[in-house]
Amino acid sequence: MKKYLVAAAVVITLSACSTGTAEEEVKVSSAIPVSQKTVEAREATAYVKKPIEEMTEEGLTVVHNPESVAVVVNKQRTLPEGYTPEDLTVPDVDFYFDEFLPKKQMRKEAATALEELFSAAEKDGQQLVAASGYRSYERQKTIFNNYVEVYGEEKTKTFSAIPGTSEHQTGLAMDVTSAEMSFQLDQSFRDTDEGKWLADHAHEYGFIIRYPEGEEDITGYTFEPWHLRYIGKEKAAEVHEQSVTLEEFFGFMPE
Ligand SMILES: [Zn+2]
Repeated sequence: MKKYLVAAAVVITLSACSTGTAEEEVKVSSAIPVSQKTVEAREATAYVKKPIEEMTEEGLTVVHNPESVAVVVNKQRTLPEGYTPEDLTVPDVDFYFDEFLPKKQMRKEAATALEELFSAAEKDGQQLVAASGYRSYERQKTIFNNYVEVYGEEKTKTFSAIPGTSEHQTGLAMDVTSAEMSFQLDQSFRDTDEGKWLADHAHEYGFIIRYPEGEEDITGYTFEPWHLRYIGKEKAAEVHEQSVTLEEFFGFMPE
């Protein structure tokens, strides 16, 4: 019985921290009274080293692996507050605008993969144009609140992410368009040569079409043929082959 009490105390203490890093685990461990530093206490400490996913006040799960290229962020799973990727860089690809804007950025590995994807497309005669990548928590908050003023919160939630839940904040997403689309993001992109090429080849460079058609019950979003998400070549190939959503692939189905 004691064992479970100690474990519960440790979990509660950790939940108050922003992340469960090794450093914090040490602090938590040393906070246990010496008299309880028994085998049970050590077991309890070992227990908390398993990923613990905290919940926000709104009932969202806070992901424990924001830096992983396999991170799953969606309407139920949010990034830790204030998360900013540390290796953001501007991929050397065509954008529909020239000036530097933060949304030109992606994480290094994803940026390199995007460059490979764009040059492969070009070799096949397809001119992809990048539109929007990294978006900070603050930027998403502004966008979301602007939509709420026009459409109301319920409607806004169907097409815009609550701050912290946008995949663009991971630095692993890029919206892609073309001149034929007048650089707009629209479902008709699917029917263009560039859109078809992307659907067929994105996975070869480590990307998936994150929000496939007819899967909004699972992903929470309507079809977005322009939204690319980097997950690495191996996983992207499997997701493509199995023709599943990221939620299904990693077993994070909405409850
Ligand atoms: Zn997007």
